[in-house]
This record gives sequence, structure tokens and C-alpha cells, in this order.
Amino acid sequence: MWANLSAQGYMRKDGGDTLFPLRRLLILHVQLILFNNFRANGDDAVTLKILYCGICHTDLHSVKDDFGFSMFPVVPGHEIVGIVTEVGKKVTKFKVGDKAGVGCLVDSCRACPNCNQDVEVYCPKKIDTYNDIYHDGTPTYGGFSDMIAVDKHFVVLFPDNMPLDGGAPLLCAGITAFGLKVTVISTSPSKEKEAIERLGADSFLVSRDLKQMEAAKGTLDGIIDTVSAPHAFLPLIDLLKCHGKLVIVGVPGKLIELPVIPLLMGKKLVAGSAIGGLKETQEMIDFAAKHNVTADIEVVPMDYINTAMERLAKGDVRYRFVIDIGNTLKAPVTEMIKRLS
Ligand SMILES: [Zn+2]
Ligand SMILES: [Zn+2]
Repeated sequence: MWANLSAQGYMRKDGGDTLFPLRRLLILHVQLILFNNFRANGDDAVTLKILYCGICHTDLHSVKDDFGFSMFPVVPGHEIVGIVTEVGKKVTKFKVGDKAGVGCLVDSCRACPNCNQDVEVYCPKKIDTYNDIYHDGTPTYGGFSDMIAVDKHFVVLFPDNMPLDGGAPLLCAGITAFGLKVTVISTSPSKEKEAIERLGADSFLVSRDLKQMEAAKGTLDGIIDTVSAPHAFLPLIDLLKCHGKLVIVGVPGKLIELPVIPLLMGKKLVAGSAIGGLKETQEMIDFAAKHNVTADIEVVPMDYINTAMERLAKGDVRYRFVIDIGNTLKAPVTEMIKRLS
């Protein structure tokens, strides 16, 4: 029972040749357009006026069709935050004016073992926020737009003290380690001071420094690998103790090769993990709000999207881009297209 609602946003119209320079590709194909199949006014629906949307590496993979299953036109964006403008009759958790967010999925079956254990992200019938097909057969479109309406189960309430811009990336990229000794592994020694002094890591390893990597062999219980670019896994596996786990949460976009012998000989595990379920996501946002944890962000205007995507491809951001949709998606459609081209 969804009625149509008009929203406007940015989309990539077709896949094109991914070897094409990204800037040209995006300028040619990303257009501000009107699309009208956002679902609103259902009894369970929460409608958000989008104010900020984080840019995730997955968005870049999607517009470049790195996974080979992008359904163009694609409207990226799954770190969506804004203000509730309308709620359906059966919605009690949210009221008009609340701050709220929508992450990576907008529906699931609600009946399978994974849904029953509040890990909807592993539901075989989950529906992604964008680049997926909704129950009614229409494509889903993401948060690089001004409005979205989503079933209440998939909306996260933002406590009043949680900033919308700094909180946006938590909806996908928010990862927290409790009570552990934390080592940051990075290709760039320039991040060491910040990792130790400001972010509170216990130690820092430069993955390109072979001496450092050699000395740290067999010392880690687990590694959370957040890298979204292709990279070598053997050096990371070597860092693990016996029984250690390498958990991949980034999406390198290419098939990975795993060295078998070091896994066998160390009884080591390589695993994957996606985002959490909705219950966990709400708990994470509440925890972050209580302890003033937000993402380090660079807020950019909507028409900076091409440059932001290029910089993201080069790893040139500390540490997440968030689009200021509320203030910068105001320009009339024609003017925005003119500025982009
Ligand atoms: Zn993401
Ligand atoms: Zn399910």
C-alpha cells in the first residue's frame, strides 16, 4: 500500500565504459532528474526529508558497476539522515520532526531465521536501499536525493544530541571495538599520529614497511579489514596468531586470492561480515550518541559529487564524505545540470 511521492536526486544513467575517466563519465551520465517511485503514505511508512547522505565506497563501486550487477539508472546513497516529515497510521516509534536515518536496506522477509534473530542484512530476501527491486517491481533509489519513504522497521531513530552529518556514516561504516587492544594497520605512515593521539589506538603498523610487518607477525588475535580496494591478504594473515581471524568488511570489488597453506598451518579463519541488523544499528547509534562518538567527515555540496567520487577512488578523504543535501540540493534542475557540465 504505497502511494507515489516525488523526489529528486542524482543518478548515473548507464554503466558505460569504466575505463573512461571518471570525471567525464560522471558528468556525462550523472544528472539531476525527477523520479517518482519513492514509496510513501503506507500505514507503516516513515517519510524523511533527507538532509545529509554519506558517500560510501560501495556507491563508487555501484556507479562504476565494479560488481557487474548495477541496474542503471542508479541513485546511490545508503547513509541517509534527515527529519521525519510524515508517518503512517501504525508508526509509533517516530513522529514528525524526529531526526532519523536509513542505512543499507529498506526491507526483508521478517520471517526467516536471520530476520528472527535481528540480522535482516543476511535475509535472502532483503531489499537494498538502492540498486535493488522493491516488492512492487520498481527499482529502489538511494539517498543522493531529497526525500525517501521507508518501512518503519528499517528506520533508525537519531537521539537529539547525535549530529546528523557526523552520524550519517555510522549507518554503514560505523564499527566499534569494545575493550580491546587496538592496532591500526595502514599503508600511510602519515595517519599514525592521528590514530594514536586522537583516535586512541594502542599501536600502529605501516603495511608497506616490511620490517615492521615482519616484527608484528603472529601477534594479532583478529583483524577487521575495511579496505575497499584490491590488496594482498597474505601479509595480513601472517600478522594473525594461531586461531586468528581475518574478517573482511570492505568490498575490494575484485575476486580475492587466498594463500591456503598459511591458513591451514595456523588454523586461521578468513570471514566476511556485512552491516548489523536494525536492532543492533539502533543500539549502536544510541551508544554513539551517549558517548559522543561520530565519524570524521568532510561535508561537501551536492554538485561536488564527481570530485568527491574521484577523491574517494584515490583514498583522498579523512575519512568520510557526507553530502549536505538539505542546503545544496535546492537549485532548480536545469541550473544544477548546467553547473555539472
Ligand atoms: Zn556503505
Ligand atoms: Zn528474512
